[in-house]
Amino acid sequence: MEPQNCRLCPRECGVDRNLHRGFCGAPSVARIAKADLHLWEEPCIWSPPGSGAVFFSGCQLQCVFCQNYEISSRICGKAFSVEELTALFLFLQNEKKACNLNLVSPTPYLPSIVPALEKAKIRGLQIPVVFNSGGYEKKETLEKLMGLVEVYLPDFKFCNPDLSRKYAAAPDYFSVARSAIREMQRQTGNPRWENGALKKGVIVRHLVLPGESRDSLDVLNALFEDFGRDGVILSLMSQYFPTHRAAEFPALSRKITRLEYQKVVRHAENLGFKTIYTQGFASASAEYVPDFDWKSEKE
Ligand code: SF4
Repeated sequence: MEPQNCRLCPRECGVDRNLHRGFCGAPSVARIAKADLHLWEEPCIWSPPGSGAVFFSGCQLQCVFCQNYEISSRICGKAFSVEELTALFLFLQNEKKACNLNLVSPTPYLPSIVPALEKAKIRGLQIPVVFNSGGYEKKETLEKLMGLVEVYLPDFKFCNPDLSRKYAAAPDYFSVARSAIREMQRQTGNPRWENGALKKGVIVRHLVLPGESRDSLDVLNALFEDFGRDGVILSLMSQYFPTHRAAEFPALSRKITRLEYQKVVRHAENLGFKTIYTQGFASASAEYVPDFDWKSEKE
């Protein structure tokens, strides 16, 4: 895990991030756009006063419809050393009383995050650690997180390589994300609950895209083939709205219809997934995008 020859994610840029930037744009030192209690997560990983979300800047996917594009498509936010990250993680637990530590798009900064988590756990970090990512991850990198992460929260966005090429410059997304989710599930096992809260497990998020419900069904079929009815928790998202570069793609210029969403939800139910979270249509709005406190702090 060296930022000097960065091959942390499937892009395998091989750059020295002290000097240059790879596809994700991330420097070697972690940059955070917001770290605070977050109000909107699946019920099994949310309880008052909220999830302790840490939003990292930069991303290895660069989806054209990214709702967090302000912080994913350019680097911004405060710089954090390993020691400062450790203190932040403990602050979210001890002072903010967060129900978990929710690391959002952390992959480019794992060389700092892994030692920070190790130190924080030694110093008393006990809340579940949630690894929240777009799903485009290398198995070898995930293996370094064994024992440090309690809940994986990956997206599983596309099946069709034409879609993932067009919208995320990742024609291999499906096979890469599929093997990443298998590794995540290998680490956590089937979901384990305590009083309604998820203590260990994988929650797979899938965002239904306009006109692409057929692809959603293919994603669900693969997931069910790999994990059956109760190997993972499914979260079906209806919150798509055109943003970022979506205007460049006519098919992405509208929200999804109720019929498109219902078709995907029904298919998940018919397959037999045991735990399925669904969303209301009010969530398809920029109002639900966090206000990134430190986004104006530029390099
Ligand atoms: S983390 Fe960034 S620099 Fe490293 S391989 Fe992935 S995209 Fe390239």
